[in-house]
Order: sequence, then structure tokens, then C-alpha cells
Amino acid sequence: MASVTIGLSVCVACALSGCAVGSMAPYPVPVVLPPGPPISFSGPGVSDTPSATALPRHVQPPPYIPTYPDADTELVPFIGVVENLFFHPVVAYPQVAFNGNEKTRGIDENMVTVSEFNKMLQSIYENGYILVSWNDVWSEHTDPRGEKRMQRNELLLPEGKKPIVLNFDDVNYYEYMLETGFTHKLILGGDGEIWSWGIDPRGKEVISQDLDAITILDKFVKEHPDFSMNGVKGCINLTGYEGILGYRTQTSKDNNSSAFEARRQNEIEAVKPVIARLKQTGWYFASHTWGHIDLGRAPIESVMQDASRWENEVASLVGPTMIFVYPFGARLDGADVSRTGPALKYMQSLGFRVFASVGRESFSKMKTDISAVMCDRMHADGTTLRTSRKNYLKFYDAEQVFDHARPDYGTTW
Ligand SMILES: [Zn+2]
Repeated sequence: MASVTIGLSVCVACALSGCAVGSMAPYPVPVVLPPGPPISFSGPGVSDTPSATALPRHVQPPPYIPTYPDADTELVPFIGVVENLFFHPVVAYPQVAFNGNEKTRGIDENMVTVSEFNKMLQSIYENGYILVSWNDVWSEHTDPRGEKRMQRNELLLPEGKKPIVLNFDDVNYYEYMLETGFTHKLILGGDGEIWSWGIDPRGKEVISQDLDAITILDKFVKEHPDFSMNGVKGCINLTGYEGILGYRTQTSKDNNSSAFEARRQNEIEAVKPVIARLKQTGWYFASHTWGHIDLGRAPIESVMQDASRWENEVASLVGPTMIFVYPFGARLDGADVSRTGPALKYMQSLGFRVFASVGRESFSKMKTDISAVMCDRMHADGTTLRTSRKNYLKFYDAEQVFDHARPDYGTTW
């Protein structure tokens, strides 16, 4: 049975910021440089925050060569549930996020802190899980009637390992997050690797690999190669209304000036090498709609317009994807996964095949009438840390990982 989606409480923080595209604050350089050849901040296409285009052209990112499983690792077919767990961007500076600002409550509900994320990864790893990709779990085949349908692939895994898909919603670095204790963007460092860039609570620029979920997972897999099947990391679920990955690549209905467009083109050029490096190193992308719209309520015309905008402004940069992640966990055409309504049909016709909501378990159901999979993801966040300890014990113990820098809102354990 489909588990109940937790609806509007999920991910509401992502949508709180509105669409203030006019407030793209410039940040000064220079910055604290990561190891590797020095970054030069001159040349065409350089945006006013450090970015990949600032790399000297001769610097090539190092090759990404997964070492696990190796030829000696015995692989056996896995029978059972492929777990599915999602995060939002992690809180880099709890003292800012939880200082009582107007977003504190939403951040507490929807996010985990860096300290919690580190402990969660360690525990998920120690519990025998191994990262797999949605793209390896599901594929489309032609059935005996000649109809295309989705199927679950046979997963061959090292004996004793259990598969898990990790995914990360709203890796957009929304405007409100720049003031509430998060990193500001992903960049390529002088070493060709992904780093986060941001401003610490003292106003100092920081380039780090220890403050952002993406770079923390990169480092974790580097240190624990047997946590990842063939170097897979996770799925990055993107909206587009405030750009992607910290780059303001979105169009604006209120601003069609040439200066705005020139700035936007700079941002587009700047994010491309970041996307390329993420894809090279085991990351992949999904649509989370352009406007973080509530698909449970949006009329189909809005769904279509939004899809077109995502296609133009996000898919044009990250490439096609078969994965569609519902904002607020709200399913197209309502909560009944056995129903195939017009909006689901439309999105499926655009190439989406995996439709992911939010639930109490890693539920999945193959549709029989069209080629699509409906699934639920479990949510690693403050809400479940406080109230669903038991349900998440297979991954981690909330009591062990809970960050006491959080506000005193209480727990059920
Ligand atoms: Zn979201």
C-alpha cells in the first residue's frame, strides 16, 4: 500500500523565499583558496562569486576512478527493498539557522545539520548500506504486448550490502538560505574538485568541503569506497526559480533588461563546469519542478507551463532525466497512486518515468497502464529526528545523532 504522504509540512521551507530575482548580491573576492593550482579571477564569463570559469583553462579535473567493487568482490543478486532517503541542504552554521529568525522553525523541521549529516552517513554505512543510483534500479522494457513498461532491474551487490538511494532536494541555494546558515554555492576548486563557497557568521569567505552535503558525501565515499556501488553518489533534485547550485540562471518575468540577461548568461557559463564535474563523480539530477509548485493543487495549464520552464532553464543545463520529485510530496492528480490522471500522463509523455513522493517507508509501485514507477522516499530531517526515531533506526539512531544546537522544541524519545 502507498504510505501516507506527509504533505505540506515537507519541504515548505524551500518555497518560503518567493522569487526575488532582483537581489543578486555581489560578493567580493579574493577568497581562501583550496589546495591545488591557484585560481585566477580574470577572464571572460567570470561571475562575481568564485566559480568554475575562474579556473585557468589548462587545469583539468582529475579523473574519477571508482575502486569498488573490484574484480575480487563477489556480487550476488539482491532481493528486497531498495531504501530511499532524502535530505535538503544541510545547516552549516546552526547558530545562525536557529537564532530565532523567521525561518528557524522551517529549517528545524526540514533540514539536518552538518554534525547530524556526518553521523548519519557514518551510521548508514556501518549498517551495511551501499549507495546505488535510481538509474540502475529502474529501467524501461518492452513487454510481450509490445508496450513500454518500467521494471526493477536485478541488482548485483557485494554480499551483505543493502542498497540505498540518497537524494538531495532543493540544491539551489535559495536567496533566503544565504542569510540563514547555509553555504552559498558549489564551485570548482583550483584542484578541479567540488567545493562549497560561502560566508561564515563573522562575515569571512569560506571555501570548504566540510560544510555542504554534496562535498561531505564526496569526501565520505573517497574515504569509504565500499559505501558506493561503482562510485555512485546521489540524486540532486533541482527547481529553477532562483537558479541552480548557487548560480542565478533563471529568467525573470519582471526583468528582461540586457544587463540582467548578460548576468544570467555569465551564471550559465559559470555553472556548466560544476555540473560536468558532479556528473563525472557519481551525481545525477532530477526535476523538482521549476517553481516548487504544489502539484496537488496546480491546474494542468500551470503544470505544463512550469514543466516547459524547467526544461528550458534547468534540463538545458543538467541534461535529460527520467526522475521527477514532487515538491511538498504532493502527487500529480492526487494521492491515489493507482490512478493515472491527465497531469501524470502529461509529465510521463515528457520522458519522466520515476515519480517520487515522501512517505513513511521506501515504497514503490510499478504502474501497469503506463510506463512509470510511483515511489515514496523517507525523509531525513528535524521532524523525523524528533518524532520518528524507531522508524529510522535501520539507518541511524536519532538520539545519537541529534544536534543539541537545535531549538528546544522537544522530542518523542
Ligand atoms: Zn523541495
